[in-house]
Amino acid sequence: MSRRRVGVDVGGTKCLAVALDDAGTVVADERVSTPNDPDELVEAILEVARAVGAVDGIGVGVPGLVTRDGVLIAAPNVTSVRMLPLRVRLQAASGWDVRVDNDNTVACLAEWRQGSARGFDDVVLVGLGTGIGGGAVVNGRLHRGANGFAAEFGHMIVAAGGIECPCGQRGCWERYASGTGLAHHAQAAAIDGRLEAILAEAGSVAAIRGEDVTDAALAGDPEALEVIATFAGWVAVGLVSLTNIFDPAAIVLSGGLSAHPDLFLPSIVDSYERHLFAAGARPRPLVTFAGLGPYAGAVGAALLLDD
Ligand SMILES: [Zn+2]
Repeated sequence: MSRRRVGVDVGGTKCLAVALDDAGTVVADERVSTPNDPDELVEAILEVARAVGAVDGIGVGVPGLVTRDGVLIAAPNVTSVRMLPLRVRLQAASGWDVRVDNDNTVACLAEWRQGSARGFDDVVLVGLGTGIGGGAVVNGRLHRGANGFAAEFGHMIVAAGGIECPCGQRGCWERYASGTGLAHHAQAAAIDGRLEAILAEAGSVAAIRGEDVTDAALAGDPEALEVIATFAGWVAVGLVSLTNIFDPAAIVLSGGLSAHPDLFLPSIVDSYERHLFAAGARPRPLVTFAGLGPYAGAVGAALLLDD
């Protein structure tokens, strides 16, 4: 039997482990909840990796800033974890070959090798979740930057002096174009006297969530569809900037919002093409949703072992 490649995706609430066969197909998967404690996190990763058959190596994808040596500087959803030398700790506890990288960087690796961006040499992945993460392939290589911190697209400032971001800046792209951003646009519409039914259901403006407006838009509510169009415009301006920087052949959108591609993609692509530099005179990048769904992070983590 050939060696299984095992990857673990550390999420805010759960750690997902997968094992891949030689063809890259997922042949086993297991989950454990993510503890908010550094020592317990190391244990949880090893436990879930063993559960899918890890024997001598794992790749791990973690949310947050990860150095090229596998030190997790800070993770937004695992608040007690700071400056954790995750690769060294996992290696010392298991004796395995361990690779650690950012969760969206490894999702980009997976979509490039096996998903929607297979066959392209220049790829940008944008993870639209509660915030926005990213990954990039440049000239056929995963782009990591000088420290390993590249592709933190969510903190690209798109509105100087705009909405405050937990990162300490104002006007970051993820305040406008993530799930949090969608809720912001919906709340602004409610303050403006629109989305009455959603407001009545939620009880207060602050209680309106992105999902509420998504559900209403799926049911055909014209005011909710307007909010989706506003939101799509903010997604598009960031994608235009990324296109000007990277000149990608493919842009892959992943994360929670990719659950409804038919709702979001046409508006995003329409706005993107209207703002694109020299739109009529350049090849348009493929703008598409992720092909590997919720497994992208764990699959990409396993693929780090081929790196
Ligand atoms: Zn920020």
